[in-house]
Amino acid sequence: MRILIVEDEHRISAALKKGLEQESYAVDVAYDGNVGLDLAMGETYDLIILDRLLPGMDGIEICKLLREKNNHTPILLLTAKGQTEDKVEGLDAGADDYLVKPFAFEELLARIRALQRRPRESTGQVLELEDLSLDPKNFEVRRKGKNISLSSKEFALLEFLLRHSKRTVTKEEIISHIWDYDSDVLPNTVEVYIGYLRNKIDRPFKKKLINTIRGFGYRLGE
Ligand code: CA
Repeated sequence: MRILIVEDEHRISAALKKGLEQESYAVDVAYDGNVGLDLAMGETYDLIILDRLLPGMDGIEICKLLREKNNHTPILLLTAKGQTEDKVEGLDAGADDYLVKPFAFEELLARIRALQRRPRESTGQVLELEDLSLDPKNFEVRRKGKNISLSSKEFALLEFLLRHSKRTVTKEEIISHIWDYDSDVLPNTVEVYIGYLRNKIDRPFKKKLINTIRGFGYRLGE
């Protein structure tokens, strides 16, 4: 899960980035509205945490522009205390939720989880391919009815592959969704994690689901 934070107060953005990375999210940060909008348009995120008041372009403007351009990435708007009208304005502009500063980090995590659940509830939570299933809510993976225990990175990788099953995903796509955009991830890291996954979900079952498409990337299923 990849998150964009657009927040000009460095103290807050640094704390959020650090905290979210500890929760295994991949995080990019923009300190100015224009940069934030460029990143939101040019990259693919699973969630945008957007401050209301920003240099360059304000949060409400960014919300409106993204929605006008048919970008439906969930947006969590951060507003300052006492700016009640901002909340309404933000939701009208297309934000999915808001949080009033200062807030507890636990509260932010709860909101993020709630926003992640929204589309999943409407599309059916459990992802399946042949005899493999992944339940994002309960953090459970099964093959042939057998429970498989995965690390959080392995889980995120398998979830990404399942959401894009039967098409080839490139290593770059995998890196940008599962790892931090600017962290020093080498394409080799993806191979290593694919290897871990194969050992757990393919090898014991003697039928492979993870296919290597040489020169391109990986595909789950035929
Ligand atoms: Ca601000």
